[in-house]
Amino acid sequence: MPPAALRLDIDLEALAANWRWFRDRSGAAATGAAVKADGYGLGADRVIAALYGAGCRDVFVTTFAEAATLARPARDMTIRALHGLRPADEIVPDVVPVLNSPEQIARWRDSSGGAPCDVMIDTGMNRLGIDWRGFAVDMLAGLNVDIVHSHLACADDPESPMNDEQLQRFESALAAVRAARPDVRGSLCGSGAVCLGPEYHFDLTRPGLGIYGGVPSPAAAGTLARVVRPHAEVLTVRIVPAGDSVGYGATWRAPTETRVATINLGYADGYLRGFSNAGSVVLAGRTRPVLGRVSMDLVTVDVGDLDVTEGDWVEIDYDLSSAAAASGLSQYELLTGLGHRYQRHYR
Ligand SMILES: *Cc1c(COP(=O)(O)O)cnc(C)c1O
Repeated sequence: MPPAALRLDIDLEALAANWRWFRDRSGAAATGAAVKADGYGLGADRVIAALYGAGCRDVFVTTFAEAATLARPARDMTIRALHGLRPADEIVPDVVPVLNSPEQIARWRDSSGGAPCDVMIDTGMNRLGIDWRGFAVDMLAGLNVDIVHSHLACADDPESPMNDEQLQRFESALAAVRAARPDVRGSLCGSGAVCLGPEYHFDLTRPGLGIYGGVPSPAAAGTLARVVRPHAEVLTVRIVPAGDSVGYGATWRAPTETRVATINLGYADGYLRGFSNAGSVVLAGRTRPVLGRVSMDLVTVDVGDLDVTEGDWVEIDYDLSSAAAASGLSQYELLTGLGHRYQRHYR
C-alpha cells in the first residue's frame, strides 16, 4: 500500500509529562486517567502503556466491551468502566464497574460474586449516577465498594457556583458512606476540577483532556505540552486569478491573484466545516490561512509566495485551545473526531 497522505504525530513523552503535571497537583490523592473513546482518539493501548510508565495505575473507559479490547500493561493497572454494568454486558475479570443506578447495583450484587465495584453519585449533572437526594448508604448493602465518585458539571469555570454546591453534596454523601465503611475512597475530579483546589481532590483524580494537551481550566493555560500534531500532504498548488472563488458555495473570492494549495484533509478526518475560512496550517514555520469551505477530503490554503509543491507536507494548526476557538468545536471534539485515515506515529 502507498503511504497515507495524512499523519498524526503523537508525543507520548508530552502525554506523560502532562499526566505528571496533574499528579503533582493532586496532592495526596492518587492520579488516574480517562482513556475512554480510544484514549481521546489517540490510541488507548499506546496511551495506557505510556501512562503506566509514568506511574498511573487507574484508567477509566466507558464499557466492559471497551475494557475487553485493551491490552493491560500489567496486573496492577486497574481498568474502571464508567458506564457500569448494562444488562447485556459480560463481566470482564478485574475490570471494576462504576455503578450508576439501583438497577446496576442489583445486577452487580447478583452476578459479581463480591468483586470490587465503584459507585457514582449524581450531585447535579442528572446524567449518570444515583441522585444525591435519594442516596442512602443501605443502597450499597452487599457490595464491595472501593470508590465513590461524582462528576462536576462546570469544572472548566472556576467561578461557577455549581462547583461548590456539588462539592458539598458529594462530601455529605461520602461522609455517610464512610461512617459505615471507613475505607471507601472518594473521587470527584476530571482535569478541570484538579485545578479548583485540594478540597476537591479526595483520594483519586481522573484527568482526561489536560493529559492530551487540552486546556481544561484557565489555571492550566500555557502549562501543558502539545501531544497531537496532524500533518497532511499537499496534492496540488494553483494560482487563483483575482475575482475567482474557491471551493463549495464559493464562500471565498480572491481579492488579488492568490496561490492556493489543496491539501489532503477534510471533514471526514474530523476537520469539520467550522474551520472553513477560519483554520490555519503551518508551512515552513509560517502560519497560513484556510480559504473557503472545508470539503469532505480537501482543504484549500493561501500559501502566498512560500516555496511549496505537490508532495510537501503541512502541519495543521491544532493547538487545541485556539483551534477550538477558531472552529467552534470543543477541544474534546477536536481530539475524538480525528478519525481513522491518519497514519499514527508515536514517539
Ligand atoms: C471523561 C471523564 C473524566 C475526564 O474528564 P476531562 O474533562 O477530560 O478531564 C473524568 N470523570 C468522568 C466521570 C468522565 O466521564
